[in-house]
Amino acid sequence: MLTANDPSRKTWVEVPKGSDFPIQNIPFGVFMANDDHISIGTRIGDTAIDLAALHQLGYFKDISLPEDVFLQDTLNDFITLGKPTCRQVRNRIAEIFDANNSELKDREDHKEIILFPVSELQMLMPVFIQDYTDFYSSREHAENVGIMFRGKENALMPNWLHLPVGYHGRSSSIIVSGEDVYRPMGQSLPAGSETPVYGPSKLMDFELEMAFITTDGKHLGERISTEEAEDYMFGMVVFNDWSARDLQKWEYVPLGPFLGKNFGSSISPWVVTFDALEPFRTERPAQNPEPLPYLQCASNTAYDINLEVYIQPEGGEENLVSESNHKYLYWTMVQQLAHHTVNGCNINAGDMMASGTISGPEPNNYGSMLELSWRGEKPLKLKDGSERKFLLDGDTVIMRAYCEKGGLRMGFGEVRSKVLPAKE
Ligand code: CA
Repeated sequence: MLTANDPSRKTWVEVPKGSDFPIQNIPFGVFMANDDHISIGTRIGDTAIDLAALHQLGYFKDISLPEDVFLQDTLNDFITLGKPTCRQVRNRIAEIFDANNSELKDREDHKEIILFPVSELQMLMPVFIQDYTDFYSSREHAENVGIMFRGKENALMPNWLHLPVGYHGRSSSIIVSGEDVYRPMGQSLPAGSETPVYGPSKLMDFELEMAFITTDGKHLGERISTEEAEDYMFGMVVFNDWSARDLQKWEYVPLGPFLGKNFGSSISPWVVTFDALEPFRTERPAQNPEPLPYLQCASNTAYDINLEVYIQPEGGEENLVSESNHKYLYWTMVQQLAHHTVNGCNINAGDMMASGTISGPEPNNYGSMLELSWRGEKPLKLKDGSERKFLLDGDTVIMRAYCEKGGLRMGFGEVRSKVLPAKE
């Protein structure tokens, strides 16, 4: 039972209007408080809750939990306990912070060590990511890029409508919101030239994506069906898959993305659970041709999540440059996971599966500069009068994601990262 999702529940913690973190959300993250104390926590409004302290003080005594499960610097051990246990914890947190419950509300001595203003925290990477996979599941994005790289006739490759295309990315360079990213150096082929040059990427881009985090899967050799997939999906984050288009274009044939992608990807720090997202399920797009039987899945396996991208020049204002939605994705996460494991590939708790750039049908829904500026042909105008074909050094890219339905709003917060000049 997802009692934590009760839309009528009120909390005794102050929640600012429009907050991404009402009591119905209860995401999980890892933070450092007072510059030295690392703990697993959640948040309601702008108040962070130290789950290790809650546990030590006996507030989870009716749930079977290892003593040190929240005294960790990643969520992996917690996720490994499985979704039913995580669900019990989330339900219990909702109960403790319910407006009608005074067991903690009236304990000033406990509140002092459990609650922190989020402004005083440093958010850390929420999971240890053993493996990271990036899909390519937005039809609009695949078609846009296909048209630019190969021409209109070959925009979608023949396999695209039959399987969720993906590749194995690199997890070592996934960083958390607030960490900056260096413009990468590398090889590219200048237009009209037959020999490559070496230097800082000239076409630095973001990719608006979301990623889901898995639980432990099955043994090597076994597969996870579309019916089972949701049992192995823990939660989601916003994901900015930094891309160097000039490096990518020169290197990607025949094995796909490499150095144009693996210099960095940024994630939002709070993992919003699929349990919390339950009210925001929606119909996935119709799929034609019908996928092979192992990829067929229920129609309500998409999620209505609004997505926004902002560019903030050094010292300047935020400029909204893209508005998209997770529901535009052609292939669902359930299908991605079933496809990923159909050959017997195993997954582990904390693995990250990114969606691929989430573009929508209209030009203002495009999820990358490559598409928004159409390869630089239509520069974006910013409020300060400057133009962008691709990102400049000093630009901060901010991505936000939120759901809204029937008066309930919840979200993911943001992922924010600045482009630094290439290292000499
Ligand atoms: Ca990507």
